Amino acid sequence: MNIVAENIERVKQTLPSGVRLVAVSKFHPVEMIREAYDAGQRLFGESKVQELLSKKPVLPEDIEWHFIGHLQTNKVKQIVPFVSMIHSADSPKLLQEINKAAENVGRVVSCLLQIHIAREESKFGFSFEECRDYLRSGAWKDLRHVRFCGVMGMATFTNDCKQIESEFLSLRSFFDEIKKDYFPEDSSFCEISMGMSDDYLLAVKAGSTLVRVGSRIFGERVY
Ligand SMILES: *Cc1c(COP(=O)(O)O)cnc(C)c1O
Repeated sequence: MNIVAENIERVKQTLPSGVRLVAVSKFHPVEMIREAYDAGQRLFGESKVQELLSKKPVLPEDIEWHFIGHLQTNKVKQIVPFVSMIHSADSPKLLQEINKAAENVGRVVSCLLQIHIAREESKFGFSFEECRDYLRSGAWKDLRHVRFCGVMGMATFTNDCKQIESEFLSLRSFFDEIKKDYFPEDSSFCEISMGMSDDYLLAVKAGSTLVRVGSRIFGERVY
């Protein structure tokens, strides 16, 4: 077995059933994605539009591409025709653009509301309060070509497990709150995307349904 296949196997063994693995292949060559594919992996995450557009055509059609990076509104229409899920819907304007582009190609695109849960300033996402305001406004109900599937968040980059755990738990309870208030009957609204190579086990304990694991599968990235 090659190393990528072994790594995938090792990560999967630690995931409870019902938690899906997004193999984050950004900055890694298509050959490695193919190794993962040959090991049975179908769900891949990329964070740059150009990189995704260059990889997709040379890889198998049945890969499910999840877009996980910051998405600029002017690039939305390039990925909307084929992505399975956008984890990084982080503003009302972006959601509107996704809806428009999806309508143009006759799709409904699955999106997660990206929530800022980390202490760092730089990360994108709605604050809890901004997200509540947006949902309360009702504007999202007009977006017939966006399927709201849940939330996504990234914990602070730290060794402090207690801090990371409390951030994941805060996202979990926020998910529960908005599920109850806005999506109680909607079975599509069921995903909590949290957890990366160094913290995915904490994320799973806190209720993650989608873990986004890169370096633990493909090795360190060379930027
Ligand atoms: C790169 C990236 C990951 C994966 O990071 P690793 O630490 O390599 O597992 C997960 N989520 C997002 C949003 C990323 O950009």
